[in-house]
Amino acid sequence: MKLPFIVIVDDDEQVLRAIQRDIRQKYNNDYRIIATDSANEALDLIKELMLKNDKVALFISDQRMPEMEGVKFLEKTKEMYPDAKMVLLTAYSDTEVAIKAINDIKLNYYLLKPWSPPEEKLYPVLDDILDEWQAQYKPDHEGIRIIGFQWSPKSHRLKEFLSGNLIPYIWLDAENNNEADKYLVSTGSNFDALPLVVMKDGKVLSDPTLPELAEKIGLQQTPLQKMYDVLIIGGGPAGLAASVYGSCEGLKTILIEKSNPGGQASSSARIENYLGFPTGLSGADLTRRAITQTLRFGTEIITPKTVKKIHLKDGYKIAEMTDGSEIHSKAIIIATGVEYTKLEIPGIDKFTGAGVYYGAASVEAHACKDGIVYIVGGGNSACQAAMHISKFAKEVNMVIRRESIKKTAAHYLIENISKTPNIKVHTHTEVISVEGDIVLEKITLKDPKTGKQKTATANALFIYIGAKPSTMWLNDIVLKDEKGLIITGSDLNKEKSFNNFWKLERTPFMPETSVPGIFASGDVRSNAMTGISSAVGEGSMAVRFVRKYLEEM
Ligand SMILES: Cc1cc2nc3c(=O)[nH]c(=O)nc-3n(C[C@H](O)[C@H](O)[C@H](O)COP(=O)(O)OP(=O)(O)OC[C@H]3O[C@@H](n4cnc5c(N)ncnc54)[C@H](O)[C@@H]3O)c2cc1C
Repeated sequence: MKLPFIVIVDDDEQVLRAIQRDIRQKYNNDYRIIATDSANEALDLIKELMLKNDKVALFISDQRMPEMEGVKFLEKTKEMYPDAKMVLLTAYSDTEVAIKAINDIKLNYYLLKPWSPPEEKLYPVLDDILDEWQAQYKPDHEGIRIIGFQWSPKSHRLKEFLSGNLIPYIWLDAENNNEADKYLVSTGSNFDALPLVVMKDGKVLSDPTLPELAEKIGLQQTPLQKMYDVLIIGGGPAGLAASVYGSCEGLKTILIEKSNPGGQASSSARIENYLGFPTGLSGADLTRRAITQTLRFGTEIITPKTVKKIHLKDGYKIAEMTDGSEIHSKAIIIATGVEYTKLEIPGIDKFTGAGVYYGAASVEAHACKDGIVYIVGGGNSACQAAMHISKFAKEVNMVIRRESIKKTAAHYLIENISKTPNIKVHTHTEVISVEGDIVLEKITLKDPKTGKQKTATANALFIYIGAKPSTMWLNDIVLKDEKGLIITGSDLNKEKSFNNFWKLERTPFMPETSVPGIFASGDVRSNAMTGISSAVGEGSMAVRFVRKYLEEM
């Protein structure tokens, strides 16, 4: 297997020798290392690597170099290797430039010189950055392969499930890839059998269901215990945080997720407002970290499994799944968040997964290479998606009904969008129809004020127009507000029927629902502050109250 590269540039020979020595000492077995004292020479070398289809994981550059400043050099490398990580070597006096580079070129880290001892100041930083790169890296020759049609909803479903569960795969487009042909011939399959999943051991699955695929790749499918202290429903930031705290505090904890852990956050291309990550992190990376952390503490995660009902027996809670199986627990935390609102225009369902996507920017962005993409919506998620897809697509068009995105998106995103030349914002516009043969080809836009219409080529349409609570599945066991969000804590006291449903002497705990021992956290909770940090905070806090409740039992 060809190892990926780490490229180092520093005009100061002594510093170059030192960093090269430290990097070799730790990473020589997993990466090939190139070091040079000239930024221009490095750029020539990088072009050669590109031609040979070599991968680069990390660029490390000094800031002050005579030929070109480090930030400029890294900006140029980004055009060639957009997924590679970037570290700037700086003196204290360059800190301001480095912080600006975090915004301007998405610098991953600035490392103050000197970095000794490397065990404390260099390796932990690089381990973290390289782990993040490895999580999205798909080595050429190994791993699961998915073979299918690029714009097939079935293929999209499998890709989304694997990437959401952090299982690396290699995507092979059946129509445009010689390797895909080889697999079709060697397995004796025709196009009707697509999508095919070729496992690491060579076994082939034709159009598998998600539970089939989950079982084959070794995801846990059945609970190990008869009774849990806490069952968490939903694996978004709130559910994952609850699971970390639950297991960490020694509670028997199980988490059920209907698709893949991470929730809405997993489809976020870049989260910039999460504490402790000054350069931002992708939703996939946050999810990877959270899953690793919670599994380490002993949480059982079962996915894909959908809870369809909760009932009570002698104070114990029983969650029933859509496949008929049951899980018993003493307490439940509902963290089922919200679901994307569907764009209601005729015929759009035909293209869902075949050019029309809900919040799948991070999965499908690469497939939009050089294409024309439309994004409906002007909130933070839509802007993040636009920024991410703009790295690959020729044109990204944001479609909004309002006169600007100023009232709906965060300031830093508005700034970034205005500085990105291939993103255009179409104000006072809505999408009224979609067309195509098998996949999306065209959309029609309308100005609702003037009635003027225009048809445009669209290779993909990403939709971010808000969300509704994922509580339809929940029978009337807990009280919900008029929007369908779950009422908790002191809000329950305001209900006229409070004395009918609440029979305990104490008042409901802050995240507790109308049923003692059933809690709600995150976006699904009425009056919650939405967002990742709040969801994480609420999930963690719910566990404290679960403990109090268990003490009462
Ligand atoms: C594209 C995008 C970008 C975003 N970017 C940011 C950002 O940068 N910063 C920020 O603060 N916020 C951001 N948000 C908002 C943030 O992601 C949400 O506020 C947060 O994810 C809410 O977490 P949650 O755990 O409450 O719910 P969710 O994330 O909605 O997770 C709920 C989970 O429950 C599962 N589930 C639902 N029903 C069932 C069932 N019956 N059985 C089993 N499982 C079920 C779902 O599959 C889902 O995984 C973004 C949202 C999106 C869509």
